[in-house]
Amino acid sequence: SVLMDCLDGSPGQFRNFKKDDFEAEWIKVAECRFGQVYQVKLKVWREKCALKSFNTTLCAKNFYRKVMDEASDIAKVNFKYIVSVYGLCSEATGVVMEYMSNGSLNNLLASHTLMWPKKFQMIHEASMGMNFLHSMKPPLLHLNLKTSNILLDDHLHVKISDFGVIHWEEGMGENLFMENLTARGNTSYIPPETFTQCPDPPGTPFDVYSFGIVIWEILTQQKPYAGCSMTTVILQVSQGKRPCVQIIADRKPHECDQMISIMQQCWDQDHRKRPPFSDTVRKTEALSEVLKIPGSIKCHQYDNDGVLALLSKKDFGSFRQSVRREHIQTQYPDEKSLLHFTV
Ligand code: ATP
Ligand code: MG
Repeated sequence: SVLMDCLDGSPGQFRNFKKDDFEAEWIKVAECRFGQVYQVKLKVWREKCALKSFNTTLCAKNFYRKVMDEASDIAKVNFKYIVSVYGLCSEATGVVMEYMSNGSLNNLLASHTLMWPKKFQMIHEASMGMNFLHSMKPPLLHLNLKTSNILLDDHLHVKISDFGVIHWEEGMGENLFMENLTARGNTSYIPPETFTQCPDPPGTPFDVYSFGIVIWEILTQQKPYAGCSMTTVILQVSQGKRPCVQIIADRKPHECDQMISIMQQCWDQDHRKRPPFSDTVRKTEALSEVLKIPGSIKCHQYDNDGVLALLSKKDFGSFRQSVRREHIQTQYPDEKSLLHFTV
């Protein structure tokens, strides 16, 4: 059977798919520096999968070998907010994983306006995924957390992907580690202690910092340090500078201040002060619960119709309320002073 074939010659009990296990049509989803992502369909399972294929000549030496070595650990991770990895396809030097039909959060943030409840829900779900990885023993470090590695399923719920691909290794030295990261255009997500001469191997606070930047991107729907060179970013971040908090819209719910405070703790200059995900996840849980309650939001941002496509039916109720509330608010002369009123 195909399943036997899959198991045949696999590292550990990890599946090794053959190219022939997929239907002939491969749809290219993305092309990046290190390879391509395809949508493929498994003949037996009748299910769409994503095949992330690494271009071995562009990848760092032995990169794919390392992915293979780690793959069985990665495949063990099975959680609602983590993209499932089904196996490898050695013939295509690739990883076979769950297909996420709505692409990456990076793309979504650029193309649609999100409502506050959805933003808070996404932050919370991402922190659930990260908390899961960090609560493994030993913690599974992501080290490549960014909005392009937060993917969206059919219903716009988020899952974390591409964890455990970047590694710090004994003898690798910080230069190669840094190169690996910055070559991917990840500079904004790298904590300042990594830029110092002799950094310690990264630990969980590395990911917590990246998560702080992710929160900022979700709240603002902008890219951090837009227009700055990599060198500028490294210098400024080393000196304690962070993305601008003021640009988070004036019209924001009260709860946003608490989310901003979580974000700022996560990107603290001192990695020892950054809160573990086990703390953060409880806070984001409470905040996203509050915003879920229809009518709970004292102040709404609302936008064009594009928004509606991103709202579940439940959210739609509060969207309509926000529109009504906005009408009421604009009847008053001093609109701003009324923004935090319950109507
Ligand atoms: P990195 O290699 O550091 O993770 P990246 O995330 O920018 O960098 P890829 O992981 O190759 O690059 O992903 C590129 C794009 O492919 C993503 O932004 C996303 O739109 C799409 N993609 C990746 N994985 C999947 C998946 N499992 N399902 C659907 N689309 C995916
Ligand atoms: Mg990725």
